[in-house]
Amino acid sequence: MAGPDSGPAIPVWLAEDDLGCIICQELLAWPATLPCGHSFCRKCLMGLWSSGRRWSCPTCREGAAQPLELRKNTMLQDLADKYSRAVEAHKSIAEVGRELAELVEQLVDIVRSLQRQRHIPESGADNQVSILAEVGSSGRGREGPGGGAMGSSPGPRGSNVNMFAVKGSMTSDTPDGKMGDILRDLEEIQEKLRENFTWKEALEEQMQGSQSPAALSL
Ligand SMILES: [Zn+2]
Ligand SMILES: [Zn+2]
Repeated sequence: MAGPDSGPAIPVWLAEDDLGCIICQELLAWPATLPCGHSFCRKCLMGLWSSGRRWSCPTCREGAAQPLELRKNTMLQDLADKYSRAVEAHKSIAEVGRELAELVEQLVDIVRSLQRQRHIPESGADNQVSILAEVGSSGRGREGPGGGAMGSSPGPRGSNVNMFAVKGSMTSDTPDGKMGDILRDLEEIQEKLRENFTWKEALEEQMQGSQSPAALSL
């Protein structure tokens, strides 16, 4: 598709319906376009025609007096293939995000129970001071000294860029203090993961209803 005059690749939200066959209700496979302009899977059309209603379009009923030569609409086939690949990629990204969120949740639980075992108050005087120090040093969109390594390259999904930009642990050198720092970092990551996926899911639902969408770069 990328010719010498092709413009920039633009992400487009598509649902399976947009590239679907109304006969089998699935993604077009070997799509054939009739003279009226409607497209169906070749196999679906042949099946329909062999059981009567010969050579007419199941959508608009426009008919033909003789058998139509069905040719593959290669552009539609390419789009359907691209859509399938995007759906798979979308699924695996969402899956990794969910697995990551579960792991972080387990880690938070482990660190909390370790803290309880060591009788460390969660908001001791030292922790209060360090929390204030962190709040004071973190502006919106700015990154702490230890963060930003993974978020430094701009990606297509802007919302993910700063997901791992966690402020460095710089409050305490004692094991107990470090544990508190780690817990705060983990909770911060947890919050970012939560915000990120809640936001994405809400957007997708808004744009596609209950359909599962996929972004297609045309
Ligand atoms: Zn079909
Ligand atoms: Zn038609």
